[in-house]
Amino acid sequence: MSSNSELMARRNAALPRGVSQGFPIFMDHADNAEMWDVEGRRYIDFAGGIAVLNVGNVNPHVTAAVQTQAAKLNHTCFMVTAYESYVSVCEKLNALSGIPDAKSFLVSTGAEAVENAVKVARAYTGRGAVIAFGGGFHGRTLLAMSLTGKVAPYKTGFGPFPTGIYHAAFPNALHGVSVDDSIASIEKLFKFDVDPASVAAIIVEPVQGEGGFVVAPKEFLERVRALCDAHGIVMIVDEVQAGAGRTGSWLAVHQSGVQPDVVTMAKSIGGGYPLAAVIGKPQIMEAPVPGGLGGTYGGNPVACAAALAVFEVFERDKLLERSRALGEQLSGRLHTLAGKHKSIVDVRGLGAMVAFELGEGGDVHKPAAALTKALVAKAFEKGLILLSCGTYANVIRVLVPLTAEPALVDEGLDIVASCLAELGA
Ligand code: PMP
Repeated sequence: MSSNSELMARRNAALPRGVSQGFPIFMDHADNAEMWDVEGRRYIDFAGGIAVLNVGNVNPHVTAAVQTQAAKLNHTCFMVTAYESYVSVCEKLNALSGIPDAKSFLVSTGAEAVENAVKVARAYTGRGAVIAFGGGFHGRTLLAMSLTGKVAPYKTGFGPFPTGIYHAAFPNALHGVSVDDSIASIEKLFKFDVDPASVAAIIVEPVQGEGGFVVAPKEFLERVRALCDAHGIVMIVDEVQAGAGRTGSWLAVHQSGVQPDVVTMAKSIGGGYPLAAVIGKPQIMEAPVPGGLGGTYGGNPVACAAALAVFEVFERDKLLERSRALGEQLSGRLHTLAGKHKSIVDVRGLGAMVAFELGEGGDVHKPAAALTKALVAKAFEKGLILLSCGTYANVIRVLVPLTAEPALVDEGLDIVASCLAELGA
């Protein structure tokens, strides 16, 4: 078998640089929260394929369902001839959403779910504008990228962007943005830039993912809800990263008690297979005309079989409870580390969606991007796959499978601890 360096050389010759890669290795196989590269080296997986593997790498129940389905019926295009599993996935997502009489449809990626949520909101309201938030991430397709609240690298060289997209401030108490400031920034948009009667939707992550695991306060979500109600705006909650049990509830927004109009999901609902969904209130979801929604691969039978297995694993293994316990394990140990290492200026999260932020010399206003990069690199040398995030690339997020053994999570955290010590953080 080829070595990592041989494969890197082939990759660099065959792929453009725009497709980045965190680590110069090629994986061979994986099991729950461990992975092995082509040279046989073992890694602990704290990335979960970026929030896709809440049920673990190669979950046996998911794999069995996929194998059976792949041998039976692998594609029809649901828009041509249907199959039961697509309907079953929608029924389940509708019930889990907590939205009365919810309706949903399936696509393949988070970006597609976001694009479609906006299409639905536009069709329902007959309006065009959309408000998103600074630091938010909604995907890499043209509209989703435009909604994303971070320029480099996501938007670099890719303009012009569609008109009618506005960004408000996301609350972040650590950095001095209160809920009042955030709501005021929306009110300012209404005053200076866009008539609220022209706004189709406000799209918000209940916990900003790529933006640094910044948790939206309950009061903020309540006030966004109230603004949407006051102006007839559709509230879209993007649960692509925070959803599917990561935060200890099926949707992160459930913990706020706020009911969204439309929800986008992807990543962990497919257990590693490309599946995404738009779920919402029936009167809104019914707005697009027949044929206006869909796509060749949306709700592919194999991905639907995987999702149905994921739902079963969640129930069988009580993964919501597990998510809360994992969250306590992670935040408990990270708080202890923060007591020892002054560079850790914040430990935060919701359920098992936990992160810590690094500031130079303990200064919250000096994002320690270089230290963060060094920590990721050192952890990699020691066999731990870590992911950074944050507007200033100074946050380490943990997205280890919810099914990971507590001892393995501790082993990973031990590596984090030894790296911080070696780096003099
Ligand atoms: N929304 C959020 C909140 C995300 O975190 C992501 C992916 N990181 C997306 C949308 C886009 O998902 P995808 O990469 O599957 O298009």
